[in-house]
Amino acid sequence: LLGYIGIDTIIEQMRKKTMKTGFDFNIMVVGHSGLGKSTLVNTLFKSQVSRRSAGWARDEKIPKTVEIKAVSHVLEEGGVKMKLTVVDTPGFGDQINNDNCWEPISKYINEQYEKFLKEEVNITRKKRIPDTRVHCCLFFITPTGRSLRPLDLEFMKRLSHSVNIIPVIAKSDSMTIEERQEFKQRVRKELEMAGIEFYPQKEFDEDMEDKSDNDKIREAMPFAVVGSDKEYPVNNKRVLGRKTAWGIVEVENPNHCEFAQLRDFLIRSHLQDLKEVTHNIHYETYRAKRLNANGG
Ligand code: GDP
Ligand code: MG
Repeated sequence: LLGYIGIDTIIEQMRKKTMKTGFDFNIMVVGHSGLGKSTLVNTLFKSQVSRRSAGWARDEKIPKTVEIKAVSHVLEEGGVKMKLTVVDTPGFGDQINNDNCWEPISKYINEQYEKFLKEEVNITRKKRIPDTRVHCCLFFITPTGRSLRPLDLEFMKRLSHSVNIIPVIAKSDSMTIEERQEFKQRVRKELEMAGIEFYPQKEFDEDMEDKSDNDKIREAMPFAVVGSDKEYPVNNKRVLGRKTAWGIVEVENPNHCEFAQLRDFLIRSHLQDLKEVTHNIHYETYRAKRLNANGG
């Protein structure tokens, strides 16, 4: 019989490697103008993701987003560094003619795959390739309570083959809790009818445990979020919130909205899986196409 083999030291080796090199995580926000995309980017950075990281206070009014723009912050916790990048995009579907309005976004996503591919095939490649690939795309849905717009469905359908789509209900403080629940159900049904697979995709559930965990998440989606970059005092603490006629909507309070759930899902529970699906499925699909087009 063999004694101790030491296979379990892989965990420690992986930890050391991650400590040394850190990792990249990239989130993109997409949707119509005015749905709170840029605000949510700020909310993410200002919320507990980065509360302890030093000196980040900006209080200017958010200008209208006119180009695709990536903002990065290196966050560190317990010696592990994460470079979190959020890619903000201009509102799509704002034009009179919205034909092909997903193209600039699709192009950006593919350009990042192309960059990674170039590094990969480069013989003198770096030990760690900087990863700018979009690991998830938050798609902002207008809180109408009614059917999704054909353009939204079209967009998600096209993009779902090249990136992990995570639909969210924007500005959910404009709906009551009951209206939210009803709308969430409606959106899920419409996405299913349209054959749109959002993340976590059913086809990539690996076993029954995965399936049951992910079923719970899928049933909680799309997360109904509220964004804000302003703080208000609540019970002697300063919290991110929005002031309304009824009081302060606390962005990070799970009884008020699902921002915290979304953030924990992205950054705590599913970060590694989002990276793996991006690499093994979306990037691989891109790579296979590219290499075939070049005659192998
Ligand atoms: P973008 O065009 O999608 O980037 O939207 P912005 O982030 O620029 O926000 C547009 C307006 O909506 C601003 O006045 C924000 O203060 C406001 N806003 C952003 N998020 C929310 C939200 O969750 N609820 C409400 N009620 N207003 C929001
Ligand atoms: Mg914007």
